[in-house]
Amino acid sequence: MNLFLLCIKRSQIFEQLVAQLTLSGVSNGDVQGGDLRYCQKCSQYKPPRAHHCRVCKRCVLRMDHHCIWINNCVGHANYKVFFIFVVYAVIACIYSLVLLVGSLTIDPPKDELQSGDSFRTAYIISGLLLIPLCVALGVLLGWHIYLILHNKTTIEYHEGVRAMWLAEKGGNVYTHPYDLGAYENLTTVLGPNILSWVCPTSKHIDSGLRFRTAYDNLIGASTSKGS
Ligand SMILES: [Zn+2]
Ligand SMILES: [Zn+2]
Repeated sequence: MNLFLLCIKRSQIFEQLVAQLTLSGVSNGDVQGGDLRYCQKCSQYKPPRAHHCRVCKRCVLRMDHHCIWINNCVGHANYKVFFIFVVYAVIACIYSLVLLVGSLTIDPPKDELQSGDSFRTAYIISGLLLIPLCVALGVLLGWHIYLILHNKTTIEYHEGVRAMWLAEKGGNVYTHPYDLGAYENLTTVLGPNILSWVCPTSKHIDSGLRFRTAYDNLIGASTSKGS
């Protein structure tokens, strides 16, 4: 299960970060796309967007949340797979609901009236269980569509609410640094090929140690204008 996660272990994190920093010529504590932060629990530096999971007892890259249903963290490496899973679960719930409602509208043949009644009761119970499941999964799907369109994680959303309040208090406007625009955010999470959006593939994801920001795009635009 944990193969899906790209988690940073104590002995690996420093080497990976130093390699990245050396390659890019960036000094420690000044990584493009976010600052390095120190994890008190792992006693190591963690990359931007990584968070420590108390349940998994380690830092998880681009951590979204710890899911109790899959008993694992949803993070950089398995976020797309998790999202696709929710999409298919919603489709399956709606399809089952349509089949159940359709079955209830058909009257059973007269010689099967008794067994038809017991089936009908089973359909009604299943339908009553399915409706709240459909609603819960639908809300979860809507929430993650919103997060993907803004290139946020659940943790970053809650951090952003506080940052927005602080910025407003200081007379500033807060914008999420990783928001690159709706389409680019979608391709960042789901992949550049639209056909692969519905497949649980993760070939497009990179190391997860650094992420492009809106600030990088601005620098790129001004450099190309200047040259
Ligand atoms: Zn940690
Ligand atoms: Zn976890």
